[in-house]
Amino acid sequence: MRIAIIGAGPGGLYTAALVKRLRPGCRIDVWEAGAPDQTFGFGVVFSEGALGGIEAADPQLFARLEAACAQWSRIDVHHRGQVMRNGGYRFSAIGRRVLLSMLRTRCTELGVTVRYGTRAPEAALLAGTYDLVVAADGVNSSTREAHREEFGTEGGTRGSRYLWLGTDRTFTALTFAVAETEFGPMHAHAYPYAPGLSTFIAEVDDHVREAAGFSDRDAGTPGGGRDDEGTADVDRIAGFFAGVLEGHRLRTNRSRWARFSVVRNRRWSLGNIALLGDSAHTTHFSIGSGTRLAMEDGLSLALAVDAHGAVPDALTAYEAERRPDVESMQRTARISQEWFEELDRYTDLGLEAFNAHLVTRSGRLTQEDMPSWSPDRVELIRDRFARADSLLRGAAAR
Ligand SMILES: Cc1cc2nc3c(=O)[nH]c(=O)nc-3n(C[C@H](O)[C@H](O)[C@H](O)COP(=O)(O)OP(=O)(O)OC[C@H]3O[C@@H](n4cnc5c(N)ncnc54)[C@H](O)[C@@H]3O)c2cc1C
Repeated sequence: MRIAIIGAGPGGLYTAALVKRLRPGCRIDVWEAGAPDQTFGFGVVFSEGALGGIEAADPQLFARLEAACAQWSRIDVHHRGQVMRNGGYRFSAIGRRVLLSMLRTRCTELGVTVRYGTRAPEAALLAGTYDLVVAADGVNSSTREAHREEFGTEGGTRGSRYLWLGTDRTFTALTFAVAETEFGPMHAHAYPYAPGLSTFIAEVDDHVREAAGFSDRDAGTPGGGRDDEGTADVDRIAGFFAGVLEGHRLRTNRSRWARFSVVRNRRWSLGNIALLGDSAHTTHFSIGSGTRLAMEDGLSLALAVDAHGAVPDALTAYEAERRPDVESMQRTARISQEWFEELDRYTDLGLEAFNAHLVTRSGRLTQEDMPSWSPDRVELIRDRFARADSLLRGAAAR
């Protein structure tokens, strides 16, 4: 089988590595428009369930990821100079650059070719020469945009603007902070992902942004465009959150004011072209799940390709397995996003009530409440990959 993958983000690379492990005879070609070590953003959070799926599918990759992840167990809510600490959670996070580098290494070890710095030919062209084309080309997917009607694409940008930043303060919890500025409230989500490094996402309403005189350029998404747009506002943001940052600096990495893009598709495949990850669906970053969902899509698609000889059957099985989880997460994410959009309804509450509203905003209290693979499915995943490995070892010995 010949598979073309458009995009070497977490979704594309993980899919390539897993299909190659299950079907070593497959020819897999991956195209990535960017350079190998060039990416947007900082750290991304993983839930416990996400790492469980990776452990079952690829214990080697899991061990490397686990060793590189920062871990913590609290959500801290900062409000009007006070902090409420909520324990009993299990979070881990990793730098996006490190995650991509590990996935790239795994692909190289398994013999997958990734062409960096090269835009993929159009999916419709690839569909004529490859058995399967995977469009893992992100939130602005040109594959999806070329066939919006056929995929039944819905959504668009909405809500307040955010800036994806980093800081050299090592937070010790998933931290939410509100800064009540003279222009109105701003809020930030922060969490650690490596020693001396944390993600810091600042969000602001349009009327506050205008009053504060922040840049009104809308990047649409954090990737692409000029590097310095939005960065001029960063020192002022650091000033507004000085208490939470404890004097540490904010850093930028292709950081530009953007609105969150909602993406939904009535169908995820068209002939032998499949959407995967952000090209198929997005979830607001306040529930930190997009990377995990993209990788879980990759796992599901790899299993489906292995189980079904015929591509149409594999694509039907892939979508049937993934859609319920994804839609459930999208519902949760929408509620979470709306809560933050209406933040000024809650800011006059006392710390305890504010904290309770914030941590229960989506109705799901813990990451364990989030949908993930059932124990039976994890067992099956483990078996399938272990069997593929032993077949490979047998063939190598002969
Ligand atoms: C502010 C913010 C915070 C976030 N925080 C988290 C978090 O904490 N946890 C989490 O799990 N997720 C988080 N996410 C979401 C996460 O970044 C995405 O869901 C994830 O990157 C999706 O992976 P992907 O592989 O589908 O797409 P991407 O990572 O976007 O990768 C797509 C790739 O395709 C390439 N590409 C596009 N078109 C072409 C083409 N024609 N030819 C070749 N290459 C192409 C792009 O260069 C890119 O490298 C966050 C997102 C934002 C915006």
